[in-house]
Amino acid sequence: MSNTVKAILDQKGRDVVTVGPNTTAAEAAKILNSRKIGAVVILGADDRISGIFTERDLVNAVAKFGKECLDQPVVSLMTSKVFRCHEETTVNELMELMTSRRFRHVPVEAHGKLTGIISIGDVVKTRIAEVEREAEEIKAYIAG
Ligand code: AMP
Repeated sequence: MSNTVKAILDQKGRDVVTVGPNTTAAEAAKILNSRKIGAVVILGADDRISGIFTERDLVNAVAKFGKECLDQPVVSLMTSKVFRCHEETTVNELMELMTSRRFRHVPVEAHGKLTGIISIGDVVKTRIAEVEREAEEIKAYIAG
C-alpha cells in the first residue's frame, strides 16, 4: 500500500517557508538560498495560499526580463493556480501529479489553510523506502 502525505509530514514536519506578495524576487532568492529550498509559498492577507514561487520562476524571470526582475514583487512572477494536496493524498497520486504537470512542489492544505509542503525529494525518499521494504518482505517470504 502506498504511503500518504500524512506519513511524510509526520516524519519531516509541517513548517513551510512563506513570503508576502510584495517580497521582491531578490529577497525571495536570498530565502531560497539560505534555507536550501526550491520554493516559497505566497500567502495572501487571509493567510490563504495565493501563489508559489520556485527557483524555476526566478530563472524564467531573469531570462525574460533581465536582472531588473529582481526588484519586482513575487506576486508578479509567481504561479497563481496552485495545485494542492491533502494529508490523505497518496505518494502514488503525488508522483502522478508532479510528473504530468512537471513541477516539484505541492503545498498541503487542510480547511483552506497551508499545513505543509511536499517536494519531489520527499516523494523519491519515501518511494525508495517503500521499494526497499517490499524487497525485504519478498526475501523473507521466499526464505519462508
Ligand atoms: P518547480 O519544478 O516546482 O520548480 O516548478 C516549475 C513551475 O511550476 C514553476 O513555474 C512553478 O511556479 C510551478 N509550480 C510549482 N509547484 C506548483 C504547484 N503545486 N501548482 C502549480 N504550479 C506549480
